[in-house]
Amino acid sequence: MSRLQDKVAIVTGGARGIGAAAVELFHQEGAKVVIADIQDALGQALADRLRGGGTDDSITYIHCDVSKEDDVARLVDATVARYGKLDVMYCNAGISDGRPGSILDATREQLDRMIGVNLVGAFLGAKHAARVMIPMKRGGGGGSVLFTASACTAIGGLGSHCYAMTKYGIVGLARNLASELGRHGVRVNCVSPSGVVTTGVGGGGRVKSEAEVAEVEAFFSEVGNLKGRNLTVDDVARAALFLASDEARYVSGVNLLVDGGFSTVNPSML
Ligand code: NAD
Repeated sequence: MSRLQDKVAIVTGGARGIGAAAVELFHQEGAKVVIADIQDALGQALADRLRGGGTDDSITYIHCDVSKEDDVARLVDATVARYGKLDVMYCNAGISDGRPGSILDATREQLDRMIGVNLVGAFLGAKHAARVMIPMKRGGGGGSVLFTASACTAIGGLGSHCYAMTKYGIVGLARNLASELGRHGVRVNCVSPSGVVTTGVGGGGRVKSEAEVAEVEAFFSEVGNLKGRNLTVDDVARAALFLASDEARYVSGVNLLVDGGFSTVNPSML
Protein backbone atom coordinates (compact mmCIF):
# COMPACT_ATOMS: atom_id res chain seq x y z
CA MET A 1 0.00 0.00 0.00
CA SER A 2 1.44 3.35 -1.00
CA ARG A 3 1.80 5.88 1.76
CA LEU A 4 -0.51 8.53 0.26
CA GLN A 5 -2.85 6.18 -1.59
CA ASP A 6 -6.15 7.92 -2.44
CA LYS A 7 -5.05 11.21 -0.84
CA VAL A 8 -5.33 14.54 -2.58
CA ALA A 9 -2.44 16.96 -2.03
CA ILE A 10 -1.62 20.53 -3.03
CA VAL A 11 2.04 21.57 -3.06
CA THR A 12 2.64 25.31 -3.35
CA GLY A 13 5.94 26.33 -4.88
CA GLY A 14 5.77 22.90 -6.49
CA ALA A 15 7.33 23.79 -9.83
CA ARG A 16 10.89 23.32 -8.69
CA GLY A 17 13.27 22.79 -5.77
CA ILE A 18 11.95 21.23 -2.58
CA GLY A 19 8.36 21.57 -3.78
CA ALA A 20 9.03 19.69 -7.02
CA ALA A 21 10.72 16.88 -5.07
CA ALA A 22 7.66 16.66 -2.81
CA VAL A 23 5.31 16.65 -5.82
CA GLU A 24 7.21 13.74 -7.34
CA LEU A 25 7.37 11.74 -4.11
CA PHE A 26 3.74 12.35 -3.10
CA HIS A 27 2.65 11.31 -6.60
CA GLN A 28 4.84 8.19 -6.50
CA GLU A 29 3.19 7.34 -3.16
CA GLY A 30 -0.27 7.31 -4.69
CA ALA A 31 -1.55 10.86 -4.15
CA LYS A 32 -3.41 12.96 -6.66
CA VAL A 33 -1.25 16.08 -6.70
CA VAL A 34 -1.93 19.69 -7.61
CA ILE A 35 1.18 21.72 -8.34
CA ALA A 36 0.65 25.39 -7.50
CA ASP A 37 3.18 27.98 -8.57
CA ILE A 38 3.75 31.19 -10.49
CA GLN A 39 6.20 29.59 -12.90
CA ASP A 40 3.65 28.20 -15.32
CA ALA A 41 6.01 26.68 -17.89
CA LEU A 42 8.03 24.81 -15.24
CA GLY A 43 4.96 23.65 -13.31
CA GLN A 44 3.15 22.49 -16.42
CA ALA A 45 6.27 20.66 -17.67
CA LEU A 46 6.58 18.82 -14.35
CA ALA A 47 2.92 17.81 -14.47
CA ASP A 48 3.32 16.61 -18.07
CA ARG A 49 6.43 14.59 -17.19
CA LEU A 50 4.80 12.85 -14.22
CA ARG A 51 1.47 12.26 -15.92
CA GLY A 52 1.36 8.81 -17.42
CA GLY A 53 -0.31 10.19 -20.54
CA GLY A 54 -3.69 9.32 -21.98
CA THR A 55 -6.51 9.88 -19.54
CA ASP A 56 -4.32 10.02 -16.41
CA ASP A 57 -5.61 12.95 -14.35
CA SER A 58 -3.54 12.21 -11.24
CA ILE A 59 -1.55 15.41 -11.50
CA THR A 60 -2.53 18.97 -12.34
CA TYR A 61 -0.81 22.32 -12.55
CA ILE A 62 -2.67 25.43 -11.38
CA HIS A 63 -1.27 28.95 -11.47
CA CYS A 64 -1.39 30.43 -7.98
CA ASP A 65 0.40 33.36 -6.42
CA VAL A 66 0.27 32.44 -2.74
CA SER A 67 0.34 36.09 -1.72
CA LYS A 68 -3.06 36.67 -3.37
CA GLU A 69 -6.14 35.49 -1.55
CA ASP A 70 -8.26 35.12 -4.69
CA ASP A 71 -5.63 32.85 -6.23
CA VAL A 72 -5.38 30.65 -3.13
CA ALA A 73 -9.16 30.39 -2.73
CA ARG A 74 -9.46 29.45 -6.40
CA LEU A 75 -6.67 26.87 -6.08
CA VAL A 76 -8.37 25.10 -3.20
CA ASP A 77 -11.82 25.24 -4.80
CA ALA A 78 -10.50 23.95 -8.14
CA THR A 79 -8.73 21.08 -6.37
CA VAL A 80 -11.89 20.03 -4.55
CA ALA A 81 -13.94 20.40 -7.73
CA ARG A 82 -11.53 18.18 -9.63
CA TYR A 83 -10.65 15.54 -7.03
CA GLY A 84 -13.52 15.76 -4.55
CA LYS A 85 -11.52 16.62 -1.42
CA LEU A 86 -8.23 17.92 -0.01
CA ASP A 87 -6.17 15.78 2.39
CA VAL A 88 -2.74 17.45 2.33
CA MET A 89 -1.96 21.14 1.98
CA TYR A 90 1.80 21.64 1.73
CA CYS A 91 2.47 25.38 1.94
CA ASN A 92 6.03 25.31 0.67
CA ALA A 93 6.29 28.36 -1.61
CA GLY A 94 8.74 30.86 -0.29
CA ILE A 95 11.46 33.31 -1.18
CA SER A 96 14.69 34.12 0.54
CA ASP A 97 17.21 36.89 0.28
CA GLY A 98 20.46 35.03 0.29
CA ARG A 99 23.07 34.90 2.98
CA PRO A 100 22.59 36.38 6.42
CA GLY A 101 23.47 40.04 6.62
CA SER A 102 23.53 42.84 9.16
CA ILE A 103 20.28 44.37 10.34
CA LEU A 104 21.92 47.69 9.50
CA ASP A 105 21.64 46.78 5.82
CA ALA A 106 18.12 45.34 6.03
CA THR A 107 15.36 47.47 4.57
CA ARG A 108 11.66 47.89 5.15
CA GLU A 109 11.06 46.93 1.51
CA GLN A 110 12.98 43.66 2.04
CA LEU A 111 10.92 42.88 5.14
CA ASP A 112 7.63 43.59 3.35
CA ARG A 113 8.67 41.36 0.44
CA MET A 114 9.56 38.43 2.74
CA ILE A 115 6.37 38.80 4.75
CA GLY A 116 4.27 39.24 1.59
CA VAL A 117 5.19 35.83 0.21
CA ASN A 118 6.41 33.66 3.09
CA LEU A 119 4.05 34.62 5.88
CA VAL A 120 1.02 35.74 3.91
CA GLY A 121 1.33 32.66 1.67
CA ALA A 122 1.42 30.34 4.68
CA PHE A 123 -1.54 32.10 6.29
CA LEU A 124 -3.71 32.06 3.17
CA GLY A 125 -2.85 28.45 2.32
CA ALA A 126 -3.69 27.30 5.83
CA LYS A 127 -6.90 29.33 6.00
CA HIS A 128 -8.34 28.04 2.75
CA ALA A 129 -7.21 24.47 3.41
CA ALA A 130 -8.94 24.62 6.80
CA ARG A 131 -12.10 25.90 5.11
CA VAL A 132 -12.45 22.63 3.21
CA MET A 133 -10.72 20.26 5.66
CA ILE A 134 -12.86 21.09 8.70
CA PRO A 135 -16.09 19.81 7.08
CA MET A 136 -14.25 16.65 5.95
CA LYS A 137 -14.17 15.45 9.56
CA ARG A 138 -17.85 14.67 9.32
CA GLY A 139 -17.07 12.28 6.49
CA GLY A 140 -14.43 10.51 8.63
CA GLY A 141 -11.64 12.52 7.03
CA GLY A 142 -9.27 15.03 8.47
CA GLY A 143 -6.18 16.39 6.92
CA SER A 144 -2.60 17.47 7.14
CA VAL A 145 -1.39 21.04 6.75
CA LEU A 146 2.34 21.35 6.28
CA PHE A 147 4.71 24.27 5.96
CA THR A 148 8.32 24.57 4.91
CA ALA A 149 9.86 26.72 7.62
CA SER A 150 13.65 26.60 8.00
CA ALA A 151 16.40 25.47 10.35
CA CYS A 152 16.92 29.19 10.96
CA THR A 153 14.13 28.66 13.52
CA ALA A 154 16.63 26.60 15.54
CA ILE A 155 19.94 28.36 15.06
CA GLY A 156 21.04 31.88 14.24
CA GLY A 157 22.92 33.05 11.18
CA LEU A 158 21.31 30.77 8.58
CA GLY A 159 19.22 33.42 6.88
CA SER A 160 18.61 37.15 6.95
CA HIS A 161 16.72 38.68 9.87
CA CYS A 162 13.73 39.37 7.62
CA TYR A 163 13.68 35.79 6.33
CA ALA A 164 14.12 34.32 9.84
CA MET A 165 11.25 36.45 11.15
CA THR A 166 8.91 35.00 8.54
CA LYS A 167 9.99 31.44 9.24
CA TYR A 168 9.55 31.85 13.01
CA GLY A 169 6.14 33.29 12.21
CA ILE A 170 5.26 30.18 10.22
CA VAL A 171 6.24 27.94 13.13
CA GLY A 172 4.08 30.13 15.39
CA LEU A 173 1.15 29.78 13.00
CA ALA A 174 1.62 26.01 12.83
CA ARG A 175 1.63 25.60 16.62
CA ASN A 176 -1.33 27.89 17.16
CA LEU A 177 -3.30 26.31 14.34
CA ALA A 178 -2.54 22.78 15.53
CA SER A 179 -4.38 23.67 18.73
CA GLU A 180 -7.45 24.86 16.82
CA LEU A 181 -7.62 22.23 14.09
CA GLY A 182 -6.82 19.13 16.15
CA ARG A 183 -10.45 18.85 17.20
CA HIS A 184 -11.36 18.72 13.51
CA GLY A 185 -8.92 15.89 12.84
CA VAL A 186 -6.48 18.17 11.04
CA ARG A 187 -2.78 18.00 11.91
CA VAL A 188 -0.47 20.98 11.35
CA ASN A 189 3.32 20.66 11.15
CA CYS A 190 6.51 22.19 9.72
CA VAL A 191 9.58 20.79 8.05
CA SER A 192 12.68 22.88 8.63
CA PRO A 193 15.60 22.22 6.29
CA SER A 194 19.07 23.60 6.84
CA GLY A 195 20.65 24.27 3.47
CA VAL A 196 19.97 22.67 0.13
CA VAL A 197 21.06 24.26 -3.11
CA THR A 198 18.09 24.94 -5.35
CA THR A 199 18.02 27.18 -8.34
CA GLY A 200 15.90 29.80 -6.67
CA VAL A 201 17.47 30.51 -3.29
CA GLY A 202 18.23 34.19 -3.19
CA GLY A 203 16.51 34.75 -6.47
CA GLY A 204 12.84 35.02 -5.54
CA GLY A 205 11.79 33.47 -8.83
CA ARG A 206 15.00 34.21 -10.73
CA VAL A 207 17.28 31.40 -11.85
CA LYS A 208 20.72 31.89 -10.36
CA SER A 209 23.93 32.23 -12.32
CA GLU A 210 26.62 29.54 -12.03
CA ALA A 211 28.72 31.84 -9.85
CA GLU A 212 25.79 32.38 -7.49
CA VAL A 213 25.13 28.63 -7.32
CA ALA A 214 28.81 28.01 -6.52
CA GLU A 215 28.69 30.60 -3.74
CA VAL A 216 25.54 29.12 -2.21
CA GLU A 217 26.97 25.61 -2.53
CA ALA A 218 30.10 26.67 -0.63
CA PHE A 219 27.94 28.17 2.13
CA PHE A 220 25.65 25.15 2.35
CA SER A 221 28.54 22.70 2.43
CA GLU A 222 29.45 24.35 5.74
CA VAL A 223 25.95 24.10 7.16
CA GLY A 224 24.65 20.88 5.69
CA ASN A 225 27.10 18.06 5.54
CA LEU A 226 27.45 16.57 9.00
CA LYS A 227 27.38 13.12 7.50
CA GLY A 228 29.80 13.89 4.73
CA ARG A 229 27.13 14.84 2.23
CA ASN A 230 24.91 17.81 1.68
CA LEU A 231 21.19 17.85 2.29
CA THR A 232 19.13 17.14 -0.84
CA VAL A 233 15.63 18.18 -1.84
CA ASP A 234 14.66 14.52 -1.64
CA ASP A 235 15.72 14.40 2.04
CA VAL A 236 13.34 17.26 2.75
CA ALA A 237 10.54 15.74 0.67
CA ARG A 238 10.81 12.47 2.62
CA ALA A 239 10.32 14.30 5.93
CA ALA A 240 7.33 16.11 4.41
CA LEU A 241 5.94 12.77 3.19
CA PHE A 242 6.09 11.35 6.71
CA LEU A 243 4.21 14.32 8.15
CA ALA A 244 1.70 14.29 5.30
CA SER A 245 0.94 10.59 5.65
CA ASP A 246 -1.09 8.63 8.18
CA GLU A 247 2.18 7.31 9.63
CA ALA A 248 2.28 10.65 11.45
CA ARG A 249 -1.38 10.38 12.45
CA TYR A 250 -0.74 11.54 16.04
CA VAL A 251 1.95 14.10 15.22
CA SER A 252 0.80 17.71 15.26
CA GLY A 253 2.32 21.07 16.17
CA VAL A 254 5.83 19.82 15.39
CA ASN A 255 8.68 21.71 13.73
CA LEU A 256 10.67 18.81 12.25
CA LEU A 257 14.26 19.84 11.65
CA VAL A 258 15.84 18.31 8.57
CA ASP A 259 19.35 19.53 9.20
CA GLY A 260 21.38 16.38 9.90
CA GLY A 261 21.76 17.59 13.47
CA PHE A 262 23.57 20.73 12.39
CA SER A 263 21.72 22.92 14.86
CA THR A 264 22.89 20.71 17.75
CA VAL A 265 26.59 21.10 17.04
CA ASN A 266 28.70 22.87 19.61
CA PRO A 267 31.03 25.07 17.54
CA SER A 268 33.85 24.50 20.01
CA MET A 269 33.81 20.78 19.06
CA LEU A 270 34.44 21.45 15.37
P1 NAD B 1 12.99 27.44 -5.04
O1 NAD B 1 13.09 28.89 -5.37
O2 NAD B 1 13.76 26.45 -5.84
O3 NAD B 1 11.46 27.02 -5.08
C1 NAD B 1 10.48 27.89 -4.60
C2 NAD B 1 9.26 27.80 -5.49
O4 NAD B 1 8.27 28.69 -4.95
C3 NAD B 1 9.54 28.25 -6.93
O5 NAD B 1 9.00 27.33 -7.85
C4 NAD B 1 8.86 29.60 -7.02
O6 NAD B 1 8.38 29.92 -8.32
C5 NAD B 1 7.72 29.41 -6.03
N1 NAD B 1 7.19 30.69 -5.57
C6 NAD B 1 7.87 31.80 -5.19
N2 NAD B 1 7.02 32.80 -4.90
C7 NAD B 1 5.77 32.30 -5.10
C8 NAD B 1 4.46 32.84 -4.98
N3 NAD B 1 4.27 34.12 -4.61
N4 NAD B 1 3.41 32.05 -5.25
C9 NAD B 1 3.59 30.77 -5.64
N5 NAD B 1 4.79 30.20 -5.79
C10 NAD B 1 5.86 30.97 -5.52
O7 NAD B 1 13.39 27.34 -3.50
P2 NAD B 1 13.38 26.11 -2.47
O8 NAD B 1 14.72 26.09 -1.84
O9 NAD B 1 12.84 24.87 -3.07
O10 NAD B 1 12.37 26.68 -1.38
C11 NAD B 1 11.17 26.04 -1.01
C12 NAD B 1 10.86 26.42 0.43
O11 NAD B 1 11.87 25.91 1.28
C13 NAD B 1 10.83 27.92 0.68
O12 NAD B 1 9.76 28.22 1.57
C14 NAD B 1 12.15 28.20 1.35
O13 NAD B 1 12.12 29.33 2.18
C15 NAD B 1 12.31 26.92 2.16
N6 NAD B 1 13.67 26.60 2.59
C16 NAD B 1 14.63 26.35 1.67
C17 NAD B 1 15.91 26.04 2.12
C18 NAD B 1 17.01 25.74 1.17
O14 NAD B 1 18.14 25.63 1.63
N7 NAD B 1 16.76 25.59 -0.12
C19 NAD B 1 16.19 25.98 3.49
C20 NAD B 1 15.17 26.24 4.38
C21 NAD B 1 13.91 26.53 3.93
